[in-house]
Amino acid sequence: MVQIPESMMQKYRAIADDFIDSNFGVNCTLYYPPTRVECSECTEGSIANADSNRFSHGGPNFSSQTSCVHCGGNGYKEEPTEDIIKLRVYFSHKDFISIGNHQINDGTIQVIGKMSDVQKFERADKIKIVTENLESTAVKAGKTQPHGFEDRYFVSFMEL
Ligand SMILES: [Zn+2]
Repeated sequence: MVQIPESMMQKYRAIADDFIDSNFGVNCTLYYPPTRVECSECTEGSIANADSNRFSHGGPNFSSQTSCVHCGGNGYKEEPTEDIIKLRVYFSHKDFISIGNHQINDGTIQVIGKMSDVQKFERADKIKIVTENLESTAVKAGKTQPHGFEDRYFVSFMEL
Protein backbone atom coordinates (compact mmCIF):
# COMPACT_ATOMS: atom_id res chain seq x y z
CA MET A 1 0.00 0.00 0.00
CA VAL A 2 1.28 3.43 -0.96
CA GLN A 3 1.83 5.80 1.92
CA ILE A 4 0.85 9.37 1.19
CA PRO A 5 3.01 11.87 3.04
CA GLU A 6 1.14 13.86 5.66
CA SER A 7 2.23 17.13 4.06
CA MET A 8 0.46 16.13 0.85
CA MET A 9 -2.60 15.07 2.76
CA GLN A 10 -2.75 18.44 4.42
CA LYS A 11 -2.51 20.16 1.06
CA TYR A 12 -5.24 17.96 -0.34
CA ARG A 13 -7.55 18.70 2.57
CA ALA A 14 -6.96 22.44 2.28
CA ILE A 15 -7.72 22.42 -1.44
CA ALA A 16 -10.75 20.18 -1.07
CA ASP A 17 -12.17 22.24 1.79
CA ASP A 18 -11.69 25.34 -0.30
CA PHE A 19 -14.13 23.93 -2.85
CA ILE A 20 -16.82 24.13 -0.21
CA ASP A 21 -15.64 27.15 1.73
CA SER A 22 -15.04 29.59 -1.06
CA ASN A 23 -15.30 28.39 -4.64
CA PHE A 24 -18.55 26.56 -4.90
CA GLY A 25 -20.16 26.31 -1.51
CA VAL A 26 -23.22 28.34 -0.71
CA ASN A 27 -24.51 29.24 2.72
CA CYS A 28 -27.52 27.09 3.46
CA THR A 29 -29.89 27.62 6.35
CA LEU A 30 -30.78 24.47 8.26
CA TYR A 31 -34.20 24.44 9.91
CA TYR A 32 -34.30 22.10 12.88
CA PRO A 33 -37.48 20.68 14.36
CA PRO A 34 -38.84 23.03 17.04
CA THR A 35 -37.26 22.45 20.43
CA ARG A 36 -38.94 22.87 23.79
CA VAL A 37 -37.68 25.79 25.76
CA GLU A 38 -38.80 26.65 29.25
CA CYS A 39 -41.23 29.56 29.25
CA SER A 40 -39.41 32.52 30.72
CA GLU A 41 -42.65 34.30 31.57
CA CYS A 42 -44.04 31.77 33.98
CA THR A 43 -42.57 29.45 36.51
CA GLU A 44 -45.36 26.92 36.63
CA GLY A 45 -44.11 23.53 37.63
CA SER A 46 -40.86 24.93 38.90
CA ILE A 47 -40.03 23.43 42.28
CA ALA A 48 -37.27 25.91 42.85
CA ASN A 49 -39.61 28.86 42.69
CA ALA A 50 -42.28 28.88 45.40
CA ASP A 51 -43.93 31.85 43.75
CA SER A 52 -45.12 29.58 41.00
CA ASN A 53 -48.35 31.20 39.95
CA ARG A 54 -46.91 34.51 38.95
CA PHE A 55 -45.16 35.86 35.94
CA SER A 56 -41.49 35.81 36.77
CA HIS A 57 -40.67 39.19 35.29
CA GLY A 58 -43.03 41.35 37.32
CA GLY A 59 -46.01 40.78 35.07
CA PRO A 60 -49.56 40.47 36.36
CA ASN A 61 -50.47 37.65 38.72
CA PHE A 62 -52.50 34.85 37.33
CA SER A 63 -54.36 32.29 39.34
CA SER A 64 -53.83 28.57 38.93
CA GLN A 65 -57.07 28.50 36.92
CA THR A 66 -55.70 30.93 34.38
CA SER A 67 -53.05 29.77 32.01
CA CYS A 68 -49.93 31.72 31.26
CA VAL A 69 -50.66 33.78 28.17
CA HIS A 70 -47.21 33.10 26.73
CA CYS A 71 -47.17 29.31 26.80
CA GLY A 72 -50.78 28.31 27.50
CA GLY A 73 -49.76 27.01 30.91
CA ASN A 74 -47.48 24.31 29.54
CA GLY A 75 -44.40 25.83 31.11
CA TYR A 76 -42.54 25.57 27.81
CA LYS A 77 -42.75 26.88 24.31
CA GLU A 78 -41.81 25.23 21.04
CA GLU A 79 -39.22 27.37 19.38
CA PRO A 80 -37.79 26.88 15.93
CA THR A 81 -34.02 26.82 15.71
CA GLU A 82 -31.74 27.11 12.76
CA ASP A 83 -28.11 27.04 11.75
CA ILE A 84 -26.04 27.87 8.68
CA ILE A 85 -23.58 25.55 6.95
CA LYS A 86 -21.87 25.65 3.58
CA LEU A 87 -22.89 23.12 0.98
CA ARG A 88 -22.01 22.55 -2.63
CA VAL A 89 -25.28 22.28 -4.47
CA TYR A 90 -25.71 20.48 -7.79
CA PHE A 91 -28.85 21.29 -9.74
CA SER A 92 -27.88 19.67 -13.02
CA HIS A 93 -28.53 15.94 -13.02
CA LYS A 94 -25.47 15.30 -15.18
CA ASP A 95 -23.26 16.64 -12.38
CA PHE A 96 -24.62 14.19 -9.82
CA ILE A 97 -22.23 11.81 -8.15
CA SER A 98 -23.43 8.24 -8.42
CA ILE A 99 -24.46 7.08 -4.96
CA GLY A 100 -26.68 4.15 -5.78
CA ASN A 101 -30.25 3.89 -6.92
CA HIS A 102 -32.35 6.92 -6.36
CA GLN A 103 -35.49 8.13 -8.10
CA ILE A 104 -34.43 11.36 -9.79
CA ASN A 105 -37.25 13.84 -10.36
CA ASP A 106 -37.30 17.34 -11.83
CA GLY A 107 -36.75 18.82 -8.39
CA THR A 108 -33.95 16.48 -7.35
CA ILE A 109 -30.69 18.15 -6.39
CA GLN A 110 -27.54 16.86 -4.77
CA VAL A 111 -25.57 18.49 -2.00
CA ILE A 112 -22.08 17.89 -0.67
CA GLY A 113 -21.00 19.11 2.73
CA LYS A 114 -18.24 18.59 5.20
CA MET A 115 -18.47 15.51 7.37
CA SER A 116 -17.92 17.81 10.36
CA ASP A 117 -21.37 19.30 9.60
CA VAL A 118 -23.17 15.99 8.98
CA GLN A 119 -24.90 15.85 12.36
CA LYS A 120 -26.35 19.31 11.83
CA PHE A 121 -27.43 18.33 8.32
CA GLU A 122 -29.09 15.13 9.53
CA ARG A 123 -30.97 16.94 12.28
CA ALA A 124 -32.54 19.47 9.93
CA ASP A 125 -36.02 18.86 8.51
CA LYS A 126 -35.50 21.28 5.66
CA ILE A 127 -32.85 23.53 4.24
CA LYS A 128 -33.02 26.91 2.57
CA ILE A 129 -30.66 27.25 -0.38
CA VAL A 130 -29.91 30.66 -1.79
CA THR A 131 -27.78 30.97 -4.91
CA GLU A 132 -27.48 33.69 -7.55
CA ASN A 133 -30.30 32.14 -9.54
CA LEU A 134 -32.56 30.58 -7.00
CA GLU A 135 -33.94 30.75 -3.50
CA SER A 136 -35.62 27.54 -2.50
CA THR A 137 -36.33 25.18 0.33
CA ALA A 138 -35.28 21.57 -0.03
CA VAL A 139 -35.91 18.44 1.99
CA LYS A 140 -33.62 15.43 2.31
CA ALA A 141 -34.28 12.48 0.05
CA GLY A 142 -32.59 9.16 0.40
CA LYS A 143 -29.68 8.28 2.59
CA THR A 144 -26.84 10.63 3.44
CA GLN A 145 -23.57 8.96 2.51
CA PRO A 146 -19.90 9.58 3.15
CA HIS A 147 -18.01 10.93 0.18
CA GLY A 148 -14.46 11.59 -0.88
CA PHE A 149 -11.02 10.89 0.34
CA GLU A 150 -10.98 9.85 4.01
CA ASP A 151 -14.78 10.22 4.04
CA ARG A 152 -14.17 13.88 4.58
CA TYR A 153 -17.50 14.85 3.05
CA PHE A 154 -21.05 13.69 2.89
CA VAL A 155 -23.32 13.62 -0.10
CA SER A 156 -27.10 13.53 -0.14
CA PHE A 157 -29.97 13.87 -2.55
CA MET A 158 -32.57 16.49 -1.77
CA GLU A 159 -35.89 17.48 -3.31
CA LEU A 160 -36.78 21.11 -4.00
ZN1 LIG B 1 -45.55 30.51 30.44
